Amino acid sequence: MRTQPSGLLTVTPADDAYRLLRSTYTTRHSPAEILLPGTAAEVSEAVMYAAATDLPVSVRSGGHGLSGTSSNDGGMVVDLSRMNAVTVLDRDTRLVRVGAGARWAEVASALAPYELAISSGDHGNVGVGGLATAGGLGWLVRIYA
Ligand SMILES: Cc1cc2nc3c(=O)[nH]c(=O)nc-3n(C[C@H](O)[C@H](O)[C@H](O)COP(=O)(O)OP(=O)(O)OC[C@H]3O[C@@H](n4cnc5c(N)ncnc54)[C@H](O)[C@@H]3O)c2cc1C
Repeated sequence: MRTQPSGLLTVTPADDAYRLLRSTYTTRHSPAEILLPGTAAEVSEAVMYAAATDLPVSVRSGGHGLSGTSSNDGGMVVDLSRMNAVTVLDRDTRLVRVGAGARWAEVASALAPYELAISSGDHGNVGVGGLATAGGLGWLVRIYA
């Protein structure tokens, strides 16, 4: 893993961490580089860095997408897994800020002390990003849908 002068973490095939980050849950891939932003500003930087290469770009949250589109072969991957903070901003209005790289088990764990729950994916390792952008089904949907 390397750190760009700006602080953005990147992983290439030469790094040990590459084998853990190259693929998705269902598909095997060989991206040229994986970018691991930790803040919104670093996401912006990662997108500009990736765009400047002119290579295909994938975005990954939990990596459970069945189509495997959150990685690629020969392109860039913006992996959001470091952006997994879950913050209850206002319990009364049930206002919660969830990082785009959080997984639903992390969200459930953070909400439980506040006696809050959410109908997310049944599998706790599914990412927030995929369900937030495309929808999904979870345990509570059988009760509340
Ligand atoms: C073992 C397993 C169990 C599952 N269980 C359930 C279940 O119980 N209920 C259910 O509804 N579904 C389930 N699914 C399906 C899964 O929820 C969807 O495929 C979901 O889209 C995965 O989200 P992800 O963030 O983990 O995946 P990813 O592969 O990271 O992302 C999926 C897609 O969303 C895009 N994306 C991710 N984050 C962003 C972002 N921030 N901005 C723009 N695009 C983004 C990616 O580029 C990709 O195209 C399951 C899948 C697996 C493999």
